[in-house]
Amino acid sequence: MNAGATTVIVGASVAGIRAAAALRHNDPHRRIVLVDGEDEDPYDKPPLSKAVLSNTDLPSPTLTDHIGHGIDYLRGTQAVAVDPAASTLTLGDGSVIRYDSAILATGSAPRHLPQLAGIPGVHYLRTLAEATALRNDLRRRPRVVVIGGGFIGSEVASSARELGLDVTIIEAGPRIAARVLPEPVSHALAALHAQHGVSVRCGTAVHGASYDADRRAVELNLDDGDTIVGDVVVVGIGTTPCTDWAADSSLPIRDGFVCGPDLRVKGTSNLHAIGDVARWFNPRYGEEMRVEHWTNAREHAGIAAHNIGHPHSPRHAATVPFLWSDQHGTRIQHVGDPNLTAVDVDAVHLSHSARVFTYSRDGITVGATAFNAQGALAKIRKQLVDQRAAVLHADHIYH
Ligand code: NAP
Repeated sequence: MNAGATTVIVGASVAGIRAAAALRHNDPHRRIVLVDGEDEDPYDKPPLSKAVLSNTDLPSPTLTDHIGHGIDYLRGTQAVAVDPAASTLTLGDGSVIRYDSAILATGSAPRHLPQLAGIPGVHYLRTLAEATALRNDLRRRPRVVVIGGGFIGSEVASSARELGLDVTIIEAGPRIAARVLPEPVSHALAALHAQHGVSVRCGTAVHGASYDADRRAVELNLDDGDTIVGDVVVVGIGTTPCTDWAADSSLPIRDGFVCGPDLRVKGTSNLHAIGDVARWFNPRYGEEMRVEHWTNAREHAGIAAHNIGHPHSPRHAATVPFLWSDQHGTRIQHVGDPNLTAVDVDAVHLSHSARVFTYSRDGITVGATAFNAQGALAKIRKQLVDQRAAVLHADHIYH
């Protein structure tokens, strides 16, 4: 073990926190410094679009149980530069931390719609502060327009309906959640929204907007010539990885920090990137990918912590993407191949509300989505994870 070595972790969301906890568990003597720009106790993000918005009591999605144990947590502290050659991290106040190893876990941030810049009542959702502001606005019982029919948009729509609000989703693409779900499952999700009173409009985008101060409402002009009015507008149109702060380093950045299969940033010996901000070579699929799901962040954290402690026997991140979501009382789980185009879809209804969609290519199962069928999904997930024969050894195909 590398007793007494310093590891600095940038970002204290689930990836950074879990990495800190795993490093501490693996090595009681290591100095661990966790840096995060937000001036909050660390917290978990999945409840921000769900329970934080809809519950009567404001739940506290804390992750503080995972820190302590001699981990130095520098909250409200921005990392502004990293120098891989000197192994130093520079902070916003000009101070410099020298590290033996570092983990970059800065996550991703919502893409903004320039047409809505400066308009009151428009919300984005990444932080606890943003979720709390949206929660407060939703309690004014407004008409809610959600722009973007991905998972953020769908979860916010569901939470707003739980509060009895009038909700419309505006999706630019031809169907919702198209980046993750195959077509029949998108339609099933849209039907679930419709059953619960959410109006879903696809194939139209917002091209202009204005604020009516008297009515305290936002008027959105759509591409199809229509106008829609919302008292609260929530934008969930995708995210971009938070790499700007390291743009002047020599690190390879291409829609994320570019990493090998062991999550080491290419060209470095002691820097790992994990979670949303890592574009890594996944040997299971034989391709680079970047995955923005909580489970991926947690899995990456354990792998990077192991690899820092065991640089001569690294583990590879041959992960199978998995996500879950709660919408309108339905537990949705999705597992498998990140690129689900050109798959055969087999739908099985287990009961009135429980369904499993299984995806296959050339007769081989490559993924599945379940609505209220956690047992069935768990079996398919295990089968996909166990498909060791399909896992190519990274050493053979990655250079
Ligand atoms: P997302 O999944 O990329 O969905 C954004 C949607 O907005 C896409 O369908 C996109 O269509 C559409 N869109 C883009 N520009 C638009 C515009 N101008 N007007 C209307 N629609 C527009 O992103 P997200 O929902 O913001 O979520 C961010 C990330 O967090 C995603 O990776 C998501 O999977 C993840 N997340 C996961 C969970 C979970 O695991 N439960 C929950 C929340 C978020 P195009 O694809 O055609 O651009």
